[in-house]
Amino acid sequence: MTVIRQQDFIDSIEDALQFISYYHPLDYVKAVEQAYLKEESQAAKDAMAQILINSRMSAEGHRPLCQDTGIVTCFVKIGMGVSWDNTDLTVQQMVDEGTRRAYTNPDNPLRASIVADPAGARTNTKDNTPAVVHIDMVPGDQVEVMIAAKGGGSENKSKMVMLNPSDDIVEWVVKTLPTMGAGWCPPGMLGIGIGGTAEKASVLAKESLMDPVDIQELMERGPQTTDEKLRLEIFKRVNDLGIGAQGLGGLTTVVDVKIKSVPTHAASKPVAMIPNCAATRHAHFHLDGSGPAELKAPKLEEWPEVTWEVGANTRRVNLDKVTKEAIQDWKVGETVLLSGKMLTGRDAAHKRIQTMMENGEGLPDGVDLTNRFIYYVGPVDAVGDEVVGPAGPTTATRMDKFTDMMLEQTGLIGMIGKAERGPATVNSIAKHKAVYLMAVGGAAYLVSKAIKKSRVVAFEDLGMEAIYEFEVEDMPVTVAVDSTGANAHETGPAIWKARIEELDSELAK
Ligand code: SF4
Repeated sequence: MTVIRQQDFIDSIEDALQFISYYHPLDYVKAVEQAYLKEESQAAKDAMAQILINSRMSAEGHRPLCQDTGIVTCFVKIGMGVSWDNTDLTVQQMVDEGTRRAYTNPDNPLRASIVADPAGARTNTKDNTPAVVHIDMVPGDQVEVMIAAKGGGSENKSKMVMLNPSDDIVEWVVKTLPTMGAGWCPPGMLGIGIGGTAEKASVLAKESLMDPVDIQELMERGPQTTDEKLRLEIFKRVNDLGIGAQGLGGLTTVVDVKIKSVPTHAASKPVAMIPNCAATRHAHFHLDGSGPAELKAPKLEEWPEVTWEVGANTRRVNLDKVTKEAIQDWKVGETVLLSGKMLTGRDAAHKRIQTMMENGEGLPDGVDLTNRFIYYVGPVDAVGDEVVGPAGPTTATRMDKFTDMMLEQTGLIGMIGKAERGPATVNSIAKHKAVYLMAVGGAAYLVSKAIKKSRVVAFEDLGMEAIYEFEVEDMPVTVAVDSTGANAHETGPAIWKARIEELDSELAK
């Protein structure tokens, strides 16, 4: 009988979580590189260039790929022939201990994002525990672990449906995907679970995302099962939607589609769909009693040599002098390089500001938003001589419910985030002649290098959700909604959907 040491298991979990915080799986890197090379949409190509550069920088600097270092999700398959050297901790407790150590590692602290009492106080547990652990007992005498750090932006876009047996799964996916917006930071993967019961389909969808990108091999060898046929059909139909990298319109929205299925009730067809984002992070290892797992570090030469130059007509903006009048001729789709001071704020800070405004207290001391931009971000803590840790944008859509109040009452003229804004918010932006700028989700370490100074100005108790003042130099953003209400997340995909139809009909001739 194999004896697994608890300590080996905990050490392996800790090492794997550190490893995936800065190493993308190479299969994902190669798939994005291929998508980058063939992309014709400049906005999408630029976004993928930033994702690839960020990926290499993270691998080199051993710092997180994304400021959202994820919720730990772990599949543990325990051989029936395994015993443990110590039984004082459950598997859940061992995974949590490894998580705690990984996320509080002083050399590469990872952002703690987990909140307890989710329907109430939502208090940060400070060490990213507990993890979500799925345990299976399987034949054999090893322990197999698949572990991921799943980004909140992509997890939030998960969908589940109980279809009728005669309903078409592909049609449901194609109808549903555009409703998910761009907050899941494409290009990524779709994990689809089919069958079982509602909860089983969801777990299958998540587990399918642990497999490597291999759709090109499937295309070459041809599908042999129903699930493989579905994968290819969904892959084509989803990319034909033209959503593209970051939802800006382009040829590649997904680099793979994964499917796992199990038998189900004759009356049911449960389907769950979970997207994986530009911060695809997972590792896979086995323990056989001989010690902790050793994950082999990839070589930096494996990353493509991608460079990204801003175009000659790029607009450079001094945030310390910008006025509402000056932003009126910024055009949707335009690249802008920001320098100067901006304030940050995300969900909790906005909620507090709203309460203070309702109570007639005004903005907190030290916060003046007149003619200022707010950046939706919750950075990772700095280490060494860093000004700030990885600091990419969070999903702006979540701030929609506060935006009209912010524009109406605070003097704010612009916002920076990722993903689309809702129709009411786009109207509010146009009404207030403001702008919404988009930074690339999943390029957090790259963005952090543009931040030259950082200090907390309010709500320090909110930790990463506090209001910071960042001083930036040449921070690249794209105008996603301009002051007339023109909206890149609507126009981009529409243009590229039509373009893909054209390309398909040219190919068919
Ligand atoms: S890439 Fe986007 S969705 Fe993924 S973890 Fe980062 S911010 Fe969240």
